[in-house]
Amino acid sequence: MASCIFCKIIKGDIPAFKLFESEKVLAFLDIQPLSYGHAVCAMLPVMIILVIPKHHGALLTDIPDEALSEILRKPVAKKVAVASGAEQYNLLQNNGRLAHQIVDHVHFHVIPKPSPEEGLGISWPAK
Ligand code: IMP
Repeated sequence: MASCIFCKIIKGDIPAFKLFESEKVLAFLDIQPLSYGHAVCAMLPVMIILVIPKHHGALLTDIPDEALSEILRKPVAKKVAVASGAEQYNLLQNNGRLAHQIVDHVHFHVIPKPSPEEGLGISWPAK
């Protein structure tokens, strides 16, 4: 959709730090990694990754099954783990205004939960 900011990122019309992409899915860094909404401990410099279907749609019910299921399948899960630098993470999806969705293009927030030993670090490109 022409006015959608995430569609513009997919097209490359506005810049983003892209971590990986496939035919149906794109992952890139959230522009506000430490926002309060992510409830991240201020002591940790956690980088939030957004994973989106390339198909435009505001709500989960607007997205084709194949695009949604790809986001939850093993290849993407592995890339998210590598890219975020943490095997463990929260996957958050705000579905609709009442759920605090601001950008009307379905997206999953990846909020890494690194162990103190692991530390943190975005790894790029994710192989
Ligand atoms: P929502 O509240 O679930 O809709 O979250 C939207 C997310 O998109 C927020 O975490 C924003 O920081 C993020 N965001 C908005 N615009 C951009 C952008 O241009 N690049 C990367 N992330 C963005």
